[in-house]
Amino acid sequence: MGLIKLVILIILVVACLTLWRRIKAWQAANQKPPADPAQPQLMVRCSHCQVHLPQDQALQSGERWYCCPEHRDADHV
Ligand SMILES: [Zn+2]
Repeated sequence: MGLIKLVILIILVVACLTLWRRIKAWQAANQKPPADPAQPQLMVRCSHCQVHLPQDQALQSGERWYCCPEHRDADHV
């Protein structure tokens, strides 16, 4: 009977370790999302045509933002 108990104990330990590793991997995968799509994007306004666009698509010139190089250049002449 002692041997069967030992085998069951080993199986339980291995099962716990496997579960633990899976939880750890799942937590690590959930902790660092590459880009949060739920995060509202910062919107800026083109100083030339007043159109709103996400900041990562806008062109900055000093403290002003533009939707395209044409509008940026048009405001500088
Ligand atoms: Zn514009």
